[in-house]
Amino acid sequence: MHVLLWLLVAMLAFFAMEGLAWVAHRHVMHGWGWRWHRSHHEPRRGLLEANDGFSVIGAMLAVGLFLAAGALQSPLLQAAAVGVTAYGMAYWLVHDGLVHQRWPWRWSPRAGYLRRLVQAHRLHHAVRTRDGALSFGFLIVADPRLLVARLRERRRSP
Ligand SMILES: [Zn+2]
Ligand SMILES: [Zn+2]
Repeated sequence: MHVLLWLLVAMLAFFAMEGLAWVAHRHVMHGWGWRWHRSHHEPRRGLLEANDGFSVIGAMLAVGLFLAAGALQSPLLQAAAVGVTAYGMAYWLVHDGLVHQRWPWRWSPRAGYLRRLVQAHRLHHAVRTRDGALSFGFLIVADPRLLVARLRERRRSP
């Protein structure tokens, strides 16, 4: 298999995961999965929260793809598995690391794309309830100024 095709599939899987994460966050976590996700919209009490169950499911998806790739000897599935894993790592770095500071050091980006990601996700957390939240993406987000305006508008006319 050509290395460029392999890379393309891995990248497609990476970006598809952002779409899947958006749909899951918008419709599952803020829907019937709220029982787990709610813990993430409240102050954390211990090292872990029920919401981490969703990360375990994501990890299982990657592991499942690697196993299937091995069993079927499929470089395409292997590329997809690598893309899904890379997304999981990026998600962890941005969401659990940069936004929620679940790592042993304190560092927050002061400008640029990463700063925008942090601000957009903090605005997601500005709403603590299941309904009414906005900004469900993790790596692809709207301009935080736009999100602030939308939040203000919603607060004025609920
Ligand atoms: Zn949420
Ligand atoms: Zn969060």
